[in-house]
Amino acid sequence: MATMCNDCFEIDKRKYKYGRWCKHCGGELVQIDELWLPIVSLLNQKGYYTSFCCSGHASDDFSSPYISFIGSCELPNLPKGFELEKYDDSPYFQFCIRHPYIENKSEFDAHIEILNATVNLLDWVRNLPTVKNKLPHESVLSCGTTN
Ligand SMILES: [Zn+2]
Repeated sequence: MATMCNDCFEIDKRKYKYGRWCKHCGGELVQIDELWLPIVSLLNQKGYYTSFCCSGHASDDFSSPYISFIGSCELPNLPKGFELEKYDDSPYFQFCIRHPYIENKSEFDAHIEILNATVNLLDWVRNLPTVKNKLPHESVLSCGTTN
């Protein structure tokens, strides 16, 4: 799995290894599904901070491609074929965009669906405006309980 810096959101082409840090800023490297790495990196660089994602995997019986977001950032629109799910109880999973479940499909058909979803996501992210949301840790603090 490929890696991205969790602080500057640069893609790091080295393989993930525990204890390895970002070459640019010394930040923590996190693992992202390779197919969506450019999407997730660009989303975060544009101010839409993500917490988890899964691109879906054609060899799995069941896939649920999604990207979840931290804090209070708002999306001006949704990528084609994705739906918005909202959650209130976790600052790390405030809401997510989810593709319909991919199941009971041949590996080939599942792969096509994942690739189509990926193209839609790429188109969407490239056209999203850059926003000035709070940094992830600030968002998390502002959403977290204080007791
Ligand atoms: Zn970095």
